[in-house]
Amino acid sequence: MIIFMKKSQTVHPKGTQARILLSSVFGPYAQDNEFGSRKINPMELYQNQVTRVQGGFSLRMFHRSFGLLMLQANIEAPCTVLDFPSLTDFIRDIQENEYDIIGISSIIPNAGKVKKMCELIREYRPGATIIVGGHISNKENIDGFLDADHIVRGDGIQWFRRFLGQDEKAPIRHPMVYSAFGARIMGINLRHKRRRTAAILIPSVGCPIGCNFCSTSALFGGKGNFVNFYETGDELFSVMCQIEENLNVRSFFVLDENFLFHRKRALRLLELMEQHRKSWALNVFSSAGVLQSYTIEQLVGLGIVWVWIGLEGKSSQYKKLKAVDTRELVRTLQSHGIRVMGSSIIGMEDHTPENIDEVIEHAVSHDTDFHQFMLYTPNPGTPLYEEHRKDGRLLPEAVLPFADAHGQYRFNYRHNHIKDGQEEEFLIRAFHRDFDVNGPSLYRLIRTMLKGWQRYKGHSDFRIRDRFDWDVAPLRSAYAGAVWAMKKWYRENSLVSEKMEALLKDMYRTFGWKTRILAPVIGRYILVHLKREEKRLKEGWAYEPCSFHEKNAAAIALEKKAYGRIKIAIPEVPCAIPKPASASGA
Ligand code: SF4
Repeated sequence: MIIFMKKSQTVHPKGTQARILLSSVFGPYAQDNEFGSRKINPMELYQNQVTRVQGGFSLRMFHRSFGLLMLQANIEAPCTVLDFPSLTDFIRDIQENEYDIIGISSIIPNAGKVKKMCELIREYRPGATIIVGGHISNKENIDGFLDADHIVRGDGIQWFRRFLGQDEKAPIRHPMVYSAFGARIMGINLRHKRRRTAAILIPSVGCPIGCNFCSTSALFGGKGNFVNFYETGDELFSVMCQIEENLNVRSFFVLDENFLFHRKRALRLLELMEQHRKSWALNVFSSAGVLQSYTIEQLVGLGIVWVWIGLEGKSSQYKKLKAVDTRELVRTLQSHGIRVMGSSIIGMEDHTPENIDEVIEHAVSHDTDFHQFMLYTPNPGTPLYEEHRKDGRLLPEAVLPFADAHGQYRFNYRHNHIKDGQEEEFLIRAFHRDFDVNGPSLYRLIRTMLKGWQRYKGHSDFRIRDRFDWDVAPLRSAYAGAVWAMKKWYRENSLVSEKMEALLKDMYRTFGWKTRILAPVIGRYILVHLKREEKRLKEGWAYEPCSFHEKNAAAIALEKKAYGRIKIAIPEVPCAIPKPASASGA
């Protein structure tokens, strides 16, 4: 792994006695400000780059800073994680607590915030060692841009263990954490349910395929490189059992760039799941070629319920897409109940104003359950960035600030064919076309889940039958109500409302009279909330995550010793869902 250290210091003088704060950058996030927050770049994956034009149908949710939690779980020193603090929270925390080390993780668009945080640390906690990591470490001239003691690139666990004098080769401890919080759709807050919320699982980081634009692959060494936290299927199975027991979950969000690439591990996991009758559900990322190398029985047996695939573009030359009919692949997966998140790129080398509609039509024709569109963006650290840097095509920060180079606004380089900010409109056009033709993602997801149930409800293997039974439970009531509400919402759009009507009839046929009675009752309730949500959105409502302040066991012990109690309680489950700013609705 590449590790860059500004100072020659290799072990902190206090070792595992050092008091550590790990922090994400401060909010608010979904508003334009001088620190680099942008309204169109909220702290939400789906609203940011997947369902951004779907209005009240957009899936709203937040994800924790898993890298920080992973670090905390593997640090023996007293360690506090501050996730999504406000600037005031951050200042108060470093004023009130004698930290020896303060680590900040960030992406490049938030570099202005990290710079500000470093200045504040120097002011309020001058003795603290400042460590900066995450994607920001690849920013050009980062060392001169902000005042940190160490910039860490790549595997932070190994780096921290070395810095604290811990055993670098000790087994990785996995944090026990749910995958998301604050979920909300159609104006309704989705309650956190232990058996329905997925836990996060991080088997590896990095991807050896090393596509030219992929910053995550680049961060962990690029082509041919990755870091396995759990080498074997047995290790992975063991950690999954621990998470299952600890969090009382049966589904996992597998945060691994290309989980199925590690075939031996995946197939051993399948064996163990079968032996131990584990009916788990896995949400994974996988490149198309790798996915296609598995049989559908293997995928279903592994409990794959959701997969994120890079479709990139019709004419793209990526090896991972060679010999893959991506439309056929998507259709096959969906027909087995596997929800697909497709990811397409706008602005590849051969894209022009003349062919952009063809590019968009190709993407939309996949009819994936969710579709991410991103601008072809050379991020520092990637081969694509290097290529543009050499060609002198990168725009200076004065023309395109790094806070705006997040892939949902403008190119950070001069494109051969797309000029004068046209890309912004092309990107929005792609999102709208997908939404207009294929309907809300929630509708598509329900349709795929129903297909899975219809196919597998009578499966001979209890494990598979049971998973589909569990997975499909909300379709009998709440989701049927959602489809009823969608049908009403689109009553003046016959193309879409006919799709909703057909799906609703199929659900009634499949689940019977109870669903037929419940759907309109629940549907009316949802419709009221949807209307209120649309009104809120028109009024400019933005969604912000609540903040978390969590200590590890060593930090709790230290605090109890000093104060006889813990100053700030650790939330057992994700914090309460924030109330919308405008209370005119729910
Ligand atoms: S296959 Fe996906 S994760 Fe792997 S390098 Fe390419 S874009 Fe990144």
